[in-house]
Amino acid sequence: MERLQKVLAEAGVASRRKCEELITAGRVMVNGEVVTTLGVKVSANQDVIHVDGRAIRQQKKVYVLFHKPKGVITSASDPGGRKIVTDFIKDIPERIYPVGRLDYDTEGLLLLTNDGEFANLLTHPKHHVPRTYHATVKGVPHGSLLDKLRSGIELEDGMTAPAEVDYHDINPESKETIVSITIYEGRNRQVRRMFDAIQFPVTRLRRVMFGPLALTGVGRGRYRHLTTHEIKELT
Ligand code: URA
Repeated sequence: MERLQKVLAEAGVASRRKCEELITAGRVMVNGEVVTTLGVKVSANQDVIHVDGRAIRQQKKVYVLFHKPKGVITSASDPGGRKIVTDFIKDIPERIYPVGRLDYDTEGLLLLTNDGEFANLLTHPKHHVPRTYHATVKGVPHGSLLDKLRSGIELEDGMTAPAEVDYHDINPESKETIVSITIYEGRNRQVRRMFDAIQFPVTRLRRVMFGPLALTGVGRGRYRHLTTHEIKELT
C-alpha cells in the first residue's frame, strides 16, 4: 500500500505536491468515494482511482533481472558521469530503479523495477531474502575462519546473522580461493567487511543468487524480465 498522492504522481497525473492539492480540493475518488485527507493509503493494483471523474492510467509494472558488470554505479544518476545500471536498459520505457544495491566493484545479480511496494518489501530487514555471493580472496582461509563467518562476526554496526559459507573453488595455480557465502541481510558492503574482519580482503565479488533467482543464461551487462511465477516466489 502506498500513499494516494504517490500513486497519483507515479501514474503521471502531476507532481506529488500538485496531487496533494488535487486530493484536498476533493477532485480524487478512491473506489467511488471522494477522499480529501492526505494520509490515505491505496494499492495501485487493486483500488480504482479517479481524478476529475477520469480513471488514472496505471503504469505497467516491470521487473527485471540484470547482470551488473563491475565498474557500474547502482544509482539512478551519477554527477561524476560514471556508468549507471540504467545505461544498460535499452528497450524499457518505464522508469525503473534498482532493488537495493551492489557496490561499484561488485558484479552480478541485481533486480530493477518500478514497483515501489515490491522493492520495499525485498529490501526490508525483516524480509530475509537469501543472497549468495562468490567472494574471491588471496590464499586459502582456514576452516575455522569460515566457521566465524558462519556463526556471526562482530562488525562496527553489530554482529552479523548466521550465514552459509563454503569453499566454492580453490585454485592452486593462482593461489586464490572462491568462497560461496549466503547472507540473509543487506547491510552496506557487508560481505567485504565480513572478509576484512577475518583478514582475507575480497579481490572480486559476484552476487550469483538473490532468493530463488540465479544469473543463469544472462550475460554480463544483459537483462531479462522476471516471470509471473518468479515475482510471486519472491514476495
Ligand atoms: N556485500 C558487499 O560487500 N558488497 C556488495 O556489493 C554486496 C554485498
